[in-house]
Amino acid sequence: MKKIIACTTYPMVMSLGLISHYWMLHGGFSIKTATYTPVIVGAFIITLMELKFSHRKKWLAEKSDLLNDTVYMVLVQVLLPRLLSFFVAITLLRSLQNSQWMVTGFWPHAWPHFLQAMLMILAADFLRYWLHKLSHEWPPLWRLHAVHHSPHKLYWVNVGRFHPVEKALQFIFDALPFILLGISEEVLALYFVFYSINGFFQHCNIELRLGFLNYIISGPELHRWHHSKLVEEANRNYGNNTIVWDLVFGTRFLPKDREVDELGLKNRSYPTGFVDQLKTPFLHKRADLN
Ligand SMILES: [Zn+2]
Repeated sequence: MKKIIACTTYPMVMSLGLISHYWMLHGGFSIKTATYTPVIVGAFIITLMELKFSHRKKWLAEKSDLLNDTVYMVLVQVLLPRLLSFFVAITLLRSLQNSQWMVTGFWPHAWPHFLQAMLMILAADFLRYWLHKLSHEWPPLWRLHAVHHSPHKLYWVNVGRFHPVEKALQFIFDALPFILLGISEEVLALYFVFYSINGFFQHCNIELRLGFLNYIISGPELHRWHHSKLVEEANRNYGNNTIVWDLVFGTRFLPKDREVDELGLKNRSYPTGFVDQLKTPFLHKRADLN
């Protein structure tokens, strides 16, 4: 029974999310309701599954973890992207309209929405792959990215732990180009539903087996290695939504004979609180210890 749950949870919850999004969008609900409802329901199911079918009991979140994770989720994952989108809408888009920077002709707007969303996933992941790789290999960016690697356990709520400066960089790579390409709200919404539910799964503490999907999706079994304390294991599996670019560039890593050991940074006393983590990348002595 446990094996069946491990193999079917991801495809079932993801299908439920995407189908309910489609159904609500075509059933008279607003695009916001049709987008956020499946994401919230997905998060709820994943929370219950983490408690009932934990991959590791010691990875279950404590109250202090959740408090900081919630601050990250609200400020960095919800409010900051809205602020950046608003800034782009009122400044960039207005001044760029009718200029050569609006390159709407390059995007296949006539394709079905799901094909456009797939193309967007591949293209956004290509850009994010290089940003992520650089964030591990170039010290100034690693200082920021270390915040994301600071937890010693993985569970879905800590997927939102990113330094706001890094989140703004991600926005430039995985949102701005697509806004400038004039991609429709419907495609962006479909992308968001997939990106969110997949992100929750990627960090989740549920016993899952994705099977052949581990060659397409950047899921939890692959991503746990990316959070390994050992640099040689962590500097792999950079994929955000898919693992395709890791396959192409030779950084996919999924040993069959063992599980990942300790997670997090070498520096075991790296601060865990929100305010301290905002400051740490700029405190050189401390950040150099990661
Ligand atoms: Zn990373």
